[in-house]
Amino acid sequence: MKYCQGPKCHTYRTKDRIRGPKGAKVYQTRRRSSFYYLGGNACSMNCERDWFNKFGEQAVNHFGRIHEPIKLTEENAWFKYRDWRNEGDRFYFANQLSEQRIPITEEQYNNPSLVRP
Ligand SMILES: [Zn+2]
Repeated sequence: MKYCQGPKCHTYRTKDRIRGPKGAKVYQTRRRSSFYYLGGNACSMNCERDWFNKFGEQAVNHFGRIHEPIKLTEENAWFKYRDWRNEGDRFYFANQLSEQRIPITEEQYNNPSLVRP
């Protein structure tokens, strides 16, 4: 079990966040075995956004802000392409920059370690 990392989770007034005996009730951060937001760390889109609003800038700076464009060169721009046809599918390596297209076998198409011609 883990707690939602949303810094304002406990301020959203829903019944499932209420804990404690009568007269001493509190709203508290949600706790679940799994979450769908923030990579499994937030209970809702609101909590995900709250986290990012509070920590996003620091996180980007901490893990490495991009100061130069990242480039995808021609030699790394290959992708596999399946041409669906009634008479039998055809398989290709295609390059999204050079627009080259190289026929391959279905076996090559399905081989995950083969990523470029
Ligand atoms: Zn939350």
